Amino acid sequence: MTTADTALVETWPGTVFPPAGVGVVVFDVVGTLVEPSPSVAVAYQQAALRHGLTVDAAVIQERFKAAWRRQEMVDAAAVPAFATSRGREAERWHAIVDDVFGGEAVSGAIFADLWEHFGRVEAWQPLVHGRALVRQAIDAGVTVALASNFDERLLAIAERLEPLSWVPHVFASSEIGWRKPAPEFFRWVERRLGCGPDEVLLVGDDPELDVAAARRAGWRSLGVADR
Ligand SMILES: [Mg+2]
Repeated sequence: MTTADTALVETWPGTVFPPAGVGVVVFDVVGTLVEPSPSVAVAYQQAALRHGLTVDAAVIQERFKAAWRRQEMVDAAAVPAFATSRGREAERWHAIVDDVFGGEAVSGAIFADLWEHFGRVEAWQPLVHGRALVRQAIDAGVTVALASNFDERLLAIAERLEPLSWVPHVFASSEIGWRKPAPEFFRWVERRLGCGPDEVLLVGDDPELDVAAARRAGWRSLGVADR
């Protein structure tokens, strides 16, 4: 995280939210409003165990980080960069699971298990600071939306899990056809909400995919955690 981004993080909860002049607040979802519970590493470990494979959670955590980064690089190198679809999102997660379990024969079955797991509302828990920010944005009377790199599995979860269920507009990458940090992602959200870049604030946990990418798109942005 850069110094500028850290300074931004420190502005909340120390300042007025949403800031003056903001008419639209767009929230990232994973790591900003909700987190996996149990953790990704433990969910992967439990899924592997159900298929007869024992792997240490710390090993899974390291492999998962590397696999996730590898898929981000695949998307960055694609033409056009960061375009996505339902098919690409399923392919991403299948490749990540394959990377984590080293091409084990049961990897496909573990992937199917995990795909279903992370599509269930019970796999997620709200973050306290996220809940407070969504409540403040709604109470301020601004337009509030969710815009996530999560795929369309998010839509069913968002209907049932607070504070996601409080938000009237839910946009998922596979529906948009683009992932953050693609500028097209931000333009698509503007079109759907009927707003211009100068009135939007993005709130997110990722210094690059949320905070920096939104600013390049001409939005304001607020980082909420240093992960
Ligand atoms: Mg996030």
